[in-house]
Formats: sequence, C-alpha cells, structure tokens
Amino acid sequence: MTAQVAGPAGESATWAVMNVVSTSARLPRVSLHAVSDTSVVVVGGGVSGLAAAWRLVQRAPGARVTVLEQSDRLGGDLRTDVLDADSGLVVDVGAEAMLARRPEALRLAEEVGLGDDLVHPATTRAAIWSRGALHPMPAGTVMGVPGDPSSLAGVLTPEEIAVVAREPALPAPPTHGDVDVASFVAGRMGQAVVDRLVEPLLGGVYAGHADRLSLQATMPVLWPAAVHGQSLLDTVRQHSVSSGSAGTAAGSSPAPVFAGIRGGVGRLVEALRDRLTEAGAEIRTRACAQVLRSGSTSGWQVELGPAGRGETLHPHAVVVALPARRAGRLLGDVSPDAGRLLGEVTTASMAVATFLLPGSVLDGHELSGFLVPPVEGLLVKGATFSSRKWEWVHEAARGQAVVRASIGRAGEEADLQVPDEVLLKRAADELSQILRRPIPARASLLTRWGGALPQYEVGHVERVEQVRGAVVELRGIAVAGASYDGVGIPACVASADLAVEKVLADLG
Ligand SMILES: Cc1cc2nc3c(=O)[nH]c(=O)nc-3n(C[C@H](O)[C@H](O)[C@H](O)COP(=O)(O)OP(=O)(O)OC[C@H]3O[C@@H](n4cnc5c(N)ncnc54)[C@H](O)[C@@H]3O)c2cc1C
Repeated sequence: MTAQVAGPAGESATWAVMNVVSTSARLPRVSLHAVSDTSVVVVGGGVSGLAAAWRLVQRAPGARVTVLEQSDRLGGDLRTDVLDADSGLVVDVGAEAMLARRPEALRLAEEVGLGDDLVHPATTRAAIWSRGALHPMPAGTVMGVPGDPSSLAGVLTPEEIAVVAREPALPAPPTHGDVDVASFVAGRMGQAVVDRLVEPLLGGVYAGHADRLSLQATMPVLWPAAVHGQSLLDTVRQHSVSSGSAGTAAGSSPAPVFAGIRGGVGRLVEALRDRLTEAGAEIRTRACAQVLRSGSTSGWQVELGPAGRGETLHPHAVVVALPARRAGRLLGDVSPDAGRLLGEVTTASMAVATFLLPGSVLDGHELSGFLVPPVEGLLVKGATFSSRKWEWVHEAARGQAVVRASIGRAGEEADLQVPDEVLLKRAADELSQILRRPIPARASLLTRWGGALPQYEVGHVERVEQVRGAVVELRGIAVAGASYDGVGIPACVASADLAVEKVLADLG
C-alpha cells in the first residue's frame, strides 16, 4: 500500500509525499496479552522509539519497558524552541506537519491526549521560485512529476512544457531494477522537470538529490508505471484524480492533507513522555546504548556507557529505533549483515532558520511558503510562512510574521559549516530577495540538524528488505525509524508498530 499524495506543496507540504510503504499490514497482529516478567528496551528517544514504547505498554501491559535516549532531550527531530522569550513564543524548529492522509500519526496524537489540539493548515497554497519569480506550485504532481502540462506555465518555458506533453507518445520500455529519479524522469519528461520541480520537492523531504535518490523508494506511486512501461504523465494524472488532489467536486471540500498540533508538533514528545511515565515505563536520557549482544539466559544484553565500564541491561527484547548508521553499529555484533547494510545508508544535514518579523513582511503573500530549485543557486531551499500556515502560530505571534527557511542538501555540508549568524544572514538576505522587501528580524533561531535525513538512494527498498530479513532471525530484536519505510512521522510510527508486533510475536 502506498501513501503518496499529489497536491499543493511547500517546504513542509513536501512531507505529503515521503511515505514509502505502509508495512503495518504485513505481520499478523498477535493477540493482546499480558507479558508479565518481560522486559523490553527501546533504544532511541525520537518519535519512532517513543511510539514503539507507547505501543508496547498498550499491547503488552505488564511488560517492563525502558527507553534509552543518549542525549539530554527526547524527541530527536521533533523539537520546539523559544523564538521570542519576551512574549514566550514557542515554535517547532524540527518537524512541523504530519501527513493526515495516513492514520498512524494522528491516531498516536489522539491516543496520548492531543486529539483536541490537532489542527489543519489555514492555507496550503505554496509557490515555487523559478527564473526570478514566485509561481503557484503546479497542482496534481507526484513529488513534482506533473500530470497536467497546462499547470506548468510560468515554472517551465513553453518548449519545456511541450516536451512534457509529448511524454505519453514516447516508447516506455519496462524498467528492470531500481533507478535514480533524475535519469528516469528526465528521460521521459525533460531535464527541466527534474531541475525545477522534482529537485525542490526531493530537497524539501530528503534534503537529497534526484540523481542519487531511488525512484522505487521515493516515488512508489510511479514505480509500477516504470516497471510496466507506462506513461508517467498518465499515471500521475490518474493518481491525482483518484486521490482527489487534482481538484474536488463542486460543493465538496477536500480532506486535509496535513495536520499539525496547536503549540507545535514537538508537543507529541511531551505527551508521549507523560503517558509513558504514567503507564510505568522508564525513560532514561543521557543513556547511550553502546553494545548489543545476546545474553546467556534471558535474551539480550545492552551495555550503556563506555564498553566494560558502564551499566548492562538484560532485556528479553530490544527495539532499535535509531538512525541507520547508529543502528548498524549497535546491531553489527549480533547481525553483521544488518550492521553492514545499515552502515551503507548515507544522510544529509540541514539547518532551519526561524525568524520573527513584522507582520507586513508577508503582506500580499497568501501562501504557506515556497520551494527553491537548486538550479537557482540559492542557499535557502524553501521557506514556510508559519504564521500564515498555522492559525495557532498566527495567534501566538500576535500580528507578527513567523517564517522558517530551510537550508542544506546532501553532499553540501560545507555550506552549513559557518557560524550561526552567517547562516541567518544569508537566509534573511535570500528571503529578502525572493519577497522583494527587507527582512528586519525581531528575533531569530538557527537550529542545526546534522545527519538527520536518511538518503533513500537507489536500491533502498531492497536494502531495507535485506535488513529486515537479517533481523527476523534475531528473536526479540526489531528495528524502527526513519531509515526504513518513509521519513515522515506517520511512516516512523508505522515502523514502530511493526517493530512491536515483531518482538511480541517473537516473545510468543
Ligand atoms: C528539520 C526537519 C524537519 C522535518 N519536518 C518534518 C515534517 O514537517 N513532517 C514530517 O512528517 N517529518 C518531518 N521530518 C522528518 C521526521 O521528523 C523524522 O524522520 C523523524 O522524526 C525521525 O524520528 P526517529 O525517531 O526515527 O529518529 P530521530 O528523531 O533521529 O531519533 C533517534 C534518537 O535516537 C537517539 N540515539 C542515537 N543513538 C543512540 C544510542 N546509541 N543510544 C540511545 N539513543 C540514541 C538520538 O539522540 C535521537 O534522539 C523532519 C526532519 C527534520 C530533520
């Protein structure tokens, strides 16, 4: 089952299209039962680990659940921060939206008591910066791949649009094996579609490049068309119609594509922490899992702290909810194959520059934000007008504008290796160039996300299958996180659910 959505996009709207495969249907659900005297350690206190711990306390009441988080802060890529101490304005500086067309994240938010605080964007109208102007983001694309040439005016030249329109007439030999997005899409629709539409979308979700990212993993909606040798344009068009993103029948309002949480998506972390603590789970920060090995009697040994000098836990089961390379390091002793495969997953670093500005800065821009194609040569790859997009931010900012710009793509880490003030100034200057007005920041925040986004490179789906194939042999061990079936929050939650089903099935 795929959960790709074509529709309006922006820096964060791109998060609609980042969910690869919903795996929750693959394993039989074990019956609810009390697993007393059973202990499970969840390694990693990001949303995947916390969601796994939450599912464990629900599915296995009586089990002792311990979450280990190496840093002093839970949440991983989910985080709120104070933008303006004077007014107490707190905003998301990591993930800020959840795909609402998948159930997992919203269900989790409801389960932990945030149901009344779920909100939807006030606007999802996004733009794309191309050839010196902001253009409306074409509707009904799949990750930037268009289904309607007529929607591309402005972003592409008439000649480039004509190439797209001719695509259905091209011979479409079936694809054997995964391919990179750039060569596949450019081969059928022209390089301009890759440069000006696909790259900014992929940059927004993965901070990655089309010439390395996997078509199969990042555009699963289009993968069957590639395999069967069908037209891309026709496939996207059909998908847009069936998903309702190409437009809705008169009188009906489209189901919202995104949701947020009043006060910030980062609140999901606090709510999970509180519910887990109430349910008796132990949550330990500054607890770095260094070594995983099989135990002599009850299952597994997890060593914390410096090898041989730290504490050793003896759980029956372990959910490894870590970024791929960290997971690979931990699993390497018990499964060299899983360790090696996970070690091959590369990552991208990025930074988020958040500004508090006079409200007039956004006058005339009724948008949720914009994306910038890399060919434009700017550092900023997209911006979200948070105070336009979220009513709660608008209210909290009391008439001021909150704008967040994202910076950084895979392989371009050098761009980020400058002082915070320099990055903030570059971001403000480029926002000023695009919005054609000064950006007099009243407050600003620079949040760095080193190695935070896994790159789903060519062969990713097969690699993940191999990792799961290796881990399936390890009774009581499962993996979860953004490195497997999708980087978005719902996909992370789904991977956590799947991991919990695996360890419960293993424990019998
Ligand atoms: C800037 C940014 C914006 C994003 N925006 C969105 C968005 O709007 N919508 C969306 O759906 N997704 C978004 N994402 C993606 C999404 O937030 C992430 O994919 C997801 O939060 C990853 O969660 P995770 O738990 O798998 O990993 P992480 O968040 O990386 O958590 C892993 C945790 O494990 C800890 N850890 C590492 N090693 C060890 C160890 N040895 N022992 C113990 N703990 C360890 C880390 O400290 C970390 O806390 C965004 C990501 C970024 C970086």
